[in-house]
Amino acid sequence: MKALIVIDYTNDFVDGSLPVGEPGIAIEDRIVRLTESFADAGEYTVMAVDLHEEGDPYHPETALFPPHNIRGTKGRELYGRLKDAYESRKASIVWMDKTRYSAFAGTDLALRLRERGILEVHLIGVCTDICVLHTAVDAYNLGFKIVVHEDAVASFNAQGHQWALGHFTGSLGAQVVSS
Ligand code: ZN
Repeated sequence: MKALIVIDYTNDFVDGSLPVGEPGIAIEDRIVRLTESFADAGEYTVMAVDLHEEGDPYHPETALFPPHNIRGTKGRELYGRLKDAYESRKASIVWMDKTRYSAFAGTDLALRLRERGILEVHLIGVCTDICVLHTAVDAYNLGFKIVVHEDAVASFNAQGHQWALGHFTGSLGAQVVSS
C-alpha cells in the first residue's frame, strides 16, 4: 500500500492571500485526477492542510507571511474541483490539519502510515520548495520511499521549484515522476 499526501491545495495558496498563482492554477486538473485515482483505488489519501489562528503572536509564520489558511475561512477551503473531489469522497480521504510546513510536524501522519504498513509516500500540492519540501525531508528522515509528481507540484518561486525538484532526487533519493 502507498499513500498520497495532498499538501496545501487551498484557495489562499492557489489564488488567495499567499498565492502561487498561475503555476498553482495550472496543476488543478492533475491534482484532482491523482486524488481521485488514489482514493478510488483504496490507497491511503490525505489532505494535509495548513491551519492558523488569526493574529497568533506565537506562530513563527506570523512574522514571515501575510495571514493565510485561517481557521473557518474560505481561504482555507480546498481550491477548485479538488473541493468537490474531496466532498464526494470524504469516506475515503483523511483530512489532516497541520500547523507547520511539514505534514509530519505535530501530526500523527507517521503513526498512521506505520500502522498501515505504508512505506511509500507520493507528494503533490504547493509549494514545491516550502511545504512539499519540508514534508519530503521529514519523510526521508523517517525512512519512507518518496515519489514527487512533478506535474502536480508548484511554487510562486520558479527558481525554488526547480531547485527543490533537484533536491528531491539528488539528496532525498526521491523519484520525480510526471504523467
Ligand atoms: Zn502557514
